[in-house]
Amino acid sequence: MPFHEPSLPKPAPCLAPDDRPVTERLATIRARIDKAATIAQRQPGDVTLIAVSKTHPIEAIEPLLTAGQRDFGENRVAEAQAKWPGLRERFPDTRLHLIGQLQSNKAREAVALADAIHAVDRSSLVAALARAMEQEDRRPDCFLQVNIGDEPQKGGCSIADLPALLAEARSADLPVAGLMCLPPAGLEAAPYFALLAKIARDHGLSGLSMGMSDDFETAVTLGATHVRVGSALFGARA
Ligand SMILES: *Cc1c(COP(=O)(O)O)cnc(C)c1O
Repeated sequence: MPFHEPSLPKPAPCLAPDDRPVTERLATIRARIDKAATIAQRQPGDVTLIAVSKTHPIEAIEPLLTAGQRDFGENRVAEAQAKWPGLRERFPDTRLHLIGQLQSNKAREAVALADAIHAVDRSSLVAALARAMEQEDRRPDCFLQVNIGDEPQKGGCSIADLPALLAEARSADLPVAGLMCLPPAGLEAAPYFALLAKIARDHGLSGLSMGMSDDFETAVTLGATHVRVGSALFGARA
């Protein structure tokens, strides 16, 4: 059966939303990541936890910064611009990851702001980012997003188009850190994570941005270097 028609139902999330302070949730999630890495005979330090703070206000983010969390994810450039400059003045070693779909006309603002861009998925965006990096003299890490479940409504380049997109990104001198995916909702994610890991290996890429609140441990056992966790940390988004 092809990967885009798996029949495995997704298991229920094993950590229900809870009322504990966000710093306790952070410690629990970090411990779960470390345990999953250890089981997979990986180094826990090789997995970056990105706290996805989209929709959450500065007041919800501050306790995590105080607790030592430094990698954060936002979906929208405008929201990140509104929230992060002030926080970064106080916590200058913060790394900001833009994880949402990016319009080419926002490339310059994205490059000026972000330390990593996770949804590079088409030629026009590669070109816009290359130009923006030149203009801003800043080179955030880039993850190429793959539409791993071949879903028409999702961003990401097709598996078939990835080699060409990667070649373009490399020849435009983008710092390509690896691949990113968002597997189909409601299905067991493991086959998709395994496929993304294989494609990355085939292309000599070491970074793997995969795994969210419901499946980050699975992602870590299958090689994720960056997990993007929102609701399990901050609670449900409005
Ligand atoms: C919102 C978002 C996440 C975090 O999702 P949760 O299920 O809340 O952990 C991760 N990646 C992307 C691309 C997102 O848009």
